[in-house]
Amino acid sequence: MPELPEVEALKDFLTEHLVGHEIVRVLPVAFSVLKTYDPPLTALEGHAVTAVHRHGKFLDLETADGLHLVTHLARAGWLHWKDRLPDGPPRPGKGPLALRVALETGEGFDLTEAGTQKRLAVHVVRDPREVPGVARLGPDPLAPDFDEQRFAALLAGERRQLKGALRDQSLIAGVGNAYSDEILHAARMSPFKLAASLTPAETHTLYEALRTTLTDAVERSRGVAAGRLKAEKKTGLRVHGRTGEPCPVCGDTIREVSFSDSSLQYCPTCQTGGKPLADRRMSRLLK
Ligand SMILES: [Zn+2]
Repeated sequence: MPELPEVEALKDFLTEHLVGHEIVRVLPVAFSVLKTYDPPLTALEGHAVTAVHRHGKFLDLETADGLHLVTHLARAGWLHWKDRLPDGPPRPGKGPLALRVALETGEGFDLTEAGTQKRLAVHVVRDPREVPGVARLGPDPLAPDFDEQRFAALLAGERRQLKGALRDQSLIAGVGNAYSDEILHAARMSPFKLAASLTPAETHTLYEALRTTLTDAVERSRGVAAGRLKAEKKTGLRVHGRTGEPCPVCGDTIREVSFSDSSLQYCPTCQTGGKPLADRRMSRLLK
């Protein structure tokens, strides 16, 4: 799933390719992606894109008419830029294509979603805060005013474990399953450590890890074409999705804890004093 760094890179890419260009056609292919009906999708047509914004993991195209096309790519969604869109209309069906946006230049992009769980969401609104997921967002961790004091205040009294707290969009916007693993590995902290139990020194370490991990990932993604962002994200990850591989810091084997619909990865030596965390599914497999 694209997280803050990839959506930030998509924002840059689309700013360069869309701003100043007119949307001539918006075609919903999978009707379930559209979460709003007023204004209709067709209200976007005939208007130029004036700006592209990011809100957490949401992408927001603003038009000269003051409308916003707000998208959440969700777990299996992606954006594909086309220098030349196919001439014929897309056929609704079982393919991954969900929405097509065409410009007056013949260029445009497709939003696609793989798999059977359809979570990709598109909203047409007059104000991005009309989108419930955007209205709920906590502060952006790369905002200039997101300082250590602000971070400490968010964690104080936070009774959840760090893993759950970091990926909660209403606490901090934009960090998901992959980057929360990376941040905790960089901070050398257990994903199950309680957020409120951090000492001031640990809060400092985690804050630095958060900012550095995200800033580095944004830098790596910047300038990468939309189509290559997914691969770029993967190469930059040090523990997430790397169960069984050696930790790039200490060489220990990266382990995972699996849940019903996701899993986390960590390095025991770097993060949990060498002790593997309990994982029912893994222990069953190892028996
Ligand atoms: Zn390690």
